[in-house]
Amino acid sequence: MGHTTLYWLGQDLRLHDNPALQQAKHNTDRLLFVYCIDPNWFKPKRYHNAAVGKMRWQFMVQCLNNLHANLCKQQQQLLIFHGSPVGIISQLISQHQVSRVVRSRQVGIDEQRQWQRLTAHHPDVFWREEDGATLYDLAQLPFAINDCPKTMADFLLQVDPLAIAAPLLAPATLPPSTPHSTVGLQADTDALSVIGGENDGLRHLAQYFESEQPNHYHSQCDALQGWHNSSKLSLWLGQGCISPRQSYAAISQYQTLHNDSDNGEALKQALLRREYWQWYGLSHGDGLFKFAGSCGQRPLTSFYSNRFTAWCHGNSGYPIVDAAMRELLATGYISNRARQLAASCLVHQLQVDWRYGAAWFEHHLLDYDCGSNWGNWQHIAGVSSDPDDGKPLDLQQQSERFDPEHRYRRRWQSEATPLTASGELNWQQ
Ligand SMILES: Cc1cc2nc3c(=O)[nH]c(=O)nc-3n(C[C@H](O)[C@H](O)[C@H](O)COP(=O)(O)OP(=O)(O)OC[C@H]3O[C@@H](n4cnc5c(N)ncnc54)[C@H](O)[C@@H]3O)c2cc1C
Repeated sequence: MGHTTLYWLGQDLRLHDNPALQQAKHNTDRLLFVYCIDPNWFKPKRYHNAAVGKMRWQFMVQCLNNLHANLCKQQQQLLIFHGSPVGIISQLISQHQVSRVVRSRQVGIDEQRQWQRLTAHHPDVFWREEDGATLYDLAQLPFAINDCPKTMADFLLQVDPLAIAAPLLAPATLPPSTPHSTVGLQADTDALSVIGGENDGLRHLAQYFESEQPNHYHSQCDALQGWHNSSKLSLWLGQGCISPRQSYAAISQYQTLHNDSDNGEALKQALLRREYWQWYGLSHGDGLFKFAGSCGQRPLTSFYSNRFTAWCHGNSGYPIVDAAMRELLATGYISNRARQLAASCLVHQLQVDWRYGAAWFEHHLLDYDCGSNWGNWQHIAGVSSDPDDGKPLDLQQQSERFDPEHRYRRRWQSEATPLTASGELNWQQ
């Protein structure tokens, strides 16, 4: 009867440079591509908000539909299920006599616990995780995973000599699926200005590096707003529509073609910051989500419902932060500078428990990434493993420096109007 492999997809919604897919298709007679939509994502639980908000969900649906369409071109399909992932995967294992389950390694603690439960319940199945969301493999790291360097600087020093693998090609052929019906997902195509999925991610990556925009990255990436000031790769990295290795390779190619080391190096450093938070998240497990963080020291903040609600909706009374929060609500994206100002304000000015802010970002950010989001929040709240983290930002000084003509504050001071007549977000104003 031969072997059946189940490839359990998560934030790796692509065919190119996908080590888990390469592993899954190897030496198997049948291959099931499975994605589980967990109803818990949409239920408000911890910190008053559901994990997945409406805009991010639309983006995810686009990513899933694009992957399904690409699989159909290879006589395959994406099987989408609603329900508890542990129950669904268990049922499929029995139903199809699955002998092997493969997935990309995940930072989220729920996802890690699901994996642990499944491997314990099905000891006869071969379980395998691959590193598809990072530049390095776990096996390459010069430290044990539960001994991740305490500071970003130390991490960068330690990984500097490591080689970054070249991206893998998409498979030319795929093993067949077994017959199984799946649900279709309806995308609200007018709701967003960016389109989720591997095709658009690859297109964006190519267009960005063919354009003039990277030439200004180093001088402009700290700007408060503007589509062209930073790469916006995070939008497609978040769901794994493109990989960090593809991004890194594109930067190297750009550096060679343009003889531009400054901007290229700054972009590579940005990807390495992301890299740190992935391994940091894996290293600290549920410490990534605890009030006392990874350092184990509880901050002096608390939960104040009125202050938190005002912050969320752009009514905190700090105009630069209110602009950022309105932009987030309207578009699902804000710049790195705006994220820092908003987070610092919630924790240091409003004295609110940082986890509520992290969960609000998780709900709203189209580019939500577990390690990057919760890690950066820990860094700002001063509960990461780096004792130098947690310095408050001077909002007045930051406003004068990054918004001297009040353009950003003016742009978002009234009720947000996210869409232009063409249906495109007007990032430029
Ligand atoms: C409080 C807070 C929450 C954040 N939450 C997220 C999140 O959920 N998802 C997310 O991808 N990033 C998050 N970031 C990091 C950063 O703000 C975004 O990665 C960046 O703004 C995305 O825009 P870009 O792709 O144009 O970035 P660019 O400046 O063009 O950088 C290129 C890539 O490098 C990575 N990167 C750059 N800076 C960082 C950083 N500080 N931490 C991690 N990765 C980085 C991203 O993958 C990014 O796409 C957060 C930062 C803060 C301060």
